Amino acid sequence: MASTAKEDRKGSAKRVAVVGAGVSGLAAAYKLKSNGVNVMIFEAEGRAGGKLRSISQDGLIWDEGANTMTESEIEVKSLLDDLGIREKQQFPISQNKRYIARNGAPVLIPSNPIALIKSNILSAQSKFQIILEPLLWKKSDSAKVSDTDANESVGGFFQRHFGKEVVDFLIDPFVAGTSAGDPESLAMRHSFPELWNLEKRHGSVIAGAIKSMLSAKKEKSVETKGSSEKKHRQRGSFSFFGGMQTLVDALCKELGKDQVKLKSKVLSLAYSHEGKSALENWSLISASNRDKPRSLSFDAVIMTAPLCNVKEMKITKGGNLFSLDFLPEVSYLPLSVIITTFKKENVKRPLVGFGVLVPSKEQQNGLKTLGTLFSSMMFPDRAPNNLYLYTTFVGGSRNKELAKASRDELKQIVTSDLRQLLGVEGEPTFVNHFFWSKAFPLYGRDYDSVLAAIEKMEKNLPGFFYAGNHRGGLSVGKSIASGCKAAELVISYLENSSEERLLKEKSSQKK
Ligand SMILES: Cc1cc2nc3c(=O)[nH]c(=O)nc-3n(C[C@H](O)[C@H](O)[C@H](O)COP(=O)(O)OP(=O)(O)OC[C@H]3O[C@@H](n4cnc5c(N)ncnc54)[C@H](O)[C@@H]3O)c2cc1C
Repeated sequence: MASTAKEDRKGSAKRVAVVGAGVSGLAAAYKLKSNGVNVMIFEAEGRAGGKLRSISQDGLIWDEGANTMTESEIEVKSLLDDLGIREKQQFPISQNKRYIARNGAPVLIPSNPIALIKSNILSAQSKFQIILEPLLWKKSDSAKVSDTDANESVGGFFQRHFGKEVVDFLIDPFVAGTSAGDPESLAMRHSFPELWNLEKRHGSVIAGAIKSMLSAKKEKSVETKGSSEKKHRQRGSFSFFGGMQTLVDALCKELGKDQVKLKSKVLSLAYSHEGKSALENWSLISASNRDKPRSLSFDAVIMTAPLCNVKEMKITKGGNLFSLDFLPEVSYLPLSVIITTFKKENVKRPLVGFGVLVPSKEQQNGLKTLGTLFSSMMFPDRAPNNLYLYTTFVGGSRNKELAKASRDELKQIVTSDLRQLLGVEGEPTFVNHFFWSKAFPLYGRDYDSVLAAIEKMEKNLPGFFYAGNHRGGLSVGKSIASGCKAAELVISYLENSSEERLLKEKSSQKK
């Protein structure tokens, strides 16, 4: 009997290069290693994690990149279970208490329809429009739905369903807080594909969401009978004791030091198919500051570096330059993350909860930040008992220039906003500033061309797969899912290639 690709893998493990040790690359590498593939991960920076970056210093713990994640994706659930880091998961206190600034003051975001009716977050007219949405957008209104522009903006979509006030005071701060974007620039289809599809299927977003929730619940109650606490937890946001870096460290530990090559910037990739072997077609050249560039051979490559970095690489195919001119320019949003601590006695109106988001319209009330996470309220171990630690975001598409401001200027801006929103007095006892020049790729209204270019790369370069937050979603969970999916594709590519080689060998023996 012919040996299968899996057996073949055991005999002489296939070699796969993963470019980028952000969470998508690490998840991809971990999945490959778990499947017996010999994996090596190349990271340009001196640390792994990419946009996950936690710092512990002088009794404080903070995150300069992602602060929390969710496990809506099945790949995340499996990863956390397989890594055995469930006991390190840290769930925020008062997860559902989130605030929006309105008229210069924080207002609790209603968490259910009754609370929405009672709250003063929206005018009576907007509340009415929300209640009527399921009636106004029935499934039979398919003409209204199918005529909508495939590149419709997030703002346009929500305005059609819920009106301008909802866009200005709920959607705008939400997209600024999750993607640093703005409702007019973001494409609905790429930013909220689930809601976009709900409209196509049900007409009404609310009716569609309720129906989907009910059918998901039904499925779950048949599948599992877990404790209600577990179910509740799985829906919410969480971090880890020690910050998000704990996840990165766990992945790196499992992969092994020798497999994660830090300070190893990938400069070029060459694909050559000699015809004899269906595999070992990729050679990768990486360079570190200290060593000379070195070349290694691989059977396949998973690329997770941002597209702006991929464009800088030299790729050749069969000895000829594989020009990446077809890759469109991706717009990236800059963001500053400012950590401040204040003595508890100097915060006159502290709020229990997750954080406060600031709509663009609130700039007219003097607020300049995008939002602030109440980090030590969520996770008390992030600061000593006498301090509050806050994580504030400035910039994004709302204010690209301000994102680049100096630490001192940003400290003043943050202190001023926190004075207005939480009643802080005096100066922060600690300030840390981290600037991301390219925090998020903008899923703009022409993002189709970016996705098409990624597909073109994969189609024209056998054994080349792309994963990460430029495709399928910006969140940590979506990035993990993207990495795991790429790993699965690589595994079947390797199996098919091994079978192809065996068939070739057999037919040449017959001749
Ligand atoms: C400030 C901020 C806050 C965020 N908050 C949240 C949040 O609370 N929740 C959430 O779910 N998401 C959040 N996100 C988004 C999320 O963190 C990212 O989308 C996700 O981590 C991206 O992972 P990735 O692996 O796709 O990319 P990256 O993390 O960007 O990793 C790519 C890696 O490739 C490396 N690289 C680049 N070029 C080369 C090269 N030539 N050779 C080798 N390596 C190279 C880079 O150095 C980098 O390490 C936040 C992002 C930012 C910036």
